[in-house]
Amino acid sequence: MASSATVSSSAFINKVQKDVGLSTFSTQPSFSIQNPKKTVSRKIVSVMAPQQFERKPATTGSVKTAMTMTEKILARASEKPQLSPGENVWVNVDVLMTHDVCGPGSFAIFKTEFGQNAKVWDREKIVVIPDHYIFTADERANRNVDILRDYCIEQNIKYFYDIKDLGDFKVLLGTDSHTCTTGALGQFATGIGLTDAGFVLGTGKLLLKVPPTLRFVMDGEMPNYLLAKDLILQIIGEISMSGATYKAMEFVGTTVESLTMEERMTLCNMVIEAGGKNGVVPADSTTYKYLEDKTSVPYEAVYSDEQARFVSEYRFDVSKLEPLVAKPHSPDNRALARECKDVKIDRVYIGSCIGGKTEDFLAAAKVFLASGKKVKVPTFLVPATQKVWMDVYSLPVPGSGGKTCSQIFEEAGCDTPASPTCGACMGGPRDTYARLNEPQASYYTILYWNTVCVSTTNRNFPGRMGHKEGQIYLASPYTAAASALTGFVTDPREFLQ
Ligand code: SF4
Repeated sequence: MASSATVSSSAFINKVQKDVGLSTFSTQPSFSIQNPKKTVSRKIVSVMAPQQFERKPATTGSVKTAMTMTEKILARASEKPQLSPGENVWVNVDVLMTHDVCGPGSFAIFKTEFGQNAKVWDREKIVVIPDHYIFTADERANRNVDILRDYCIEQNIKYFYDIKDLGDFKVLLGTDSHTCTTGALGQFATGIGLTDAGFVLGTGKLLLKVPPTLRFVMDGEMPNYLLAKDLILQIIGEISMSGATYKAMEFVGTTVESLTMEERMTLCNMVIEAGGKNGVVPADSTTYKYLEDKTSVPYEAVYSDEQARFVSEYRFDVSKLEPLVAKPHSPDNRALARECKDVKIDRVYIGSCIGGKTEDFLAAAKVFLASGKKVKVPTFLVPATQKVWMDVYSLPVPGSGGKTCSQIFEEAGCDTPASPTCGACMGGPRDTYARLNEPQASYYTILYWNTVCVSTTNRNFPGRMGHKEGQIYLASPYTAAASALTGFVTDPREFLQ
């Protein structure tokens, strides 16, 4: 799928092909293209980050055969000294996560294939989280949660995060295709199907093909109106929804190093929207600090070798980027937020595994606080986890004189933050909070009869958030909050500068 040609081409610096030691260069007509030996100036010259051009990956230990970090992680998990892209290997799985949508099917396959009385391979390595369709009267959705509960009791699963009321929530993290989110911790994480999950339940192993790696080098100071969502929308707009099909996406560079762990999760969350097998960010002090507070399980970080082979390398000067959206109906339908300023919207949705984290709500609150205005359209807030929900009600927003996000949201006229769940990100049963149901009348009713939503979620396909006529503009929490304040798709610089 072609990416939009209108967007920030000046910010996309160049793409360097690195294959079998040869370097070739993009023929994009409008970029400054540079290699270590010579610089070729094209018509429009953009500012590069020359000091970082020679950036080399850190190396884990002495190198016999150079590998990327994804290859190294899979080599360790398959107990092989080295691996190459395309090899099929049996990997030992450390953790299998499943939820209320995929869990019942996975358990059924496990029982069919391993026997009605079979036991899972390791009750302490399975995490079960009802989180997708949970606050609904829908009988089938509730039955799925019942199946999870019964199965976890039967198998004595240690990490089952049940739901009875709000007080029963623990930390809920994503499963399914967006399992890739946790590559932000420097690990290999990917989504698998029900049959594979059933097999892992019984054996703790899975046959995986080693993916080749695309490398994304992001350097430059991040402007205060950008968030990691803008970076990943930039990348997907550049390479398209199929641009990373069955490839690892490795994110490096000074900008990535400056990102918080939650922002790194945002980057990795949407690799699946580019077809990626996994996303990964090299671990550093930010990672170690984050893990310190959460686990005592030992781990060892791995890094790509200096001579590791990447299929392609993409370079961005982040200081040149502008706030972006992905227009309906594809995450690679990239446009500048300011180019869409005439798009009238009906609602704003801030939530999901990518856009419903604590920092996402802090970012939205920052925009509301800076404006001092009230929202012009219904604005829905759905924390991703119970921890986030508590943060929304307890953490002071910097520069607010001690106000919490929830207080700022209330003053701005937003809906009360909902209980944590996937919410309307994937539509869900008809009574799902904030779901796009019937098309709504608007100023443009004569021409259009639909619901236009600016959303911090990750997918905007027809029907994704409910009604098939719904139009979803994917955006950062800054852009979503700014749009709520105007009733149009809005560049957050309108309020942040
Ligand atoms: S929030 Fe949305 S994208 Fe994330 S796991 Fe739930 S349904 Fe999937």
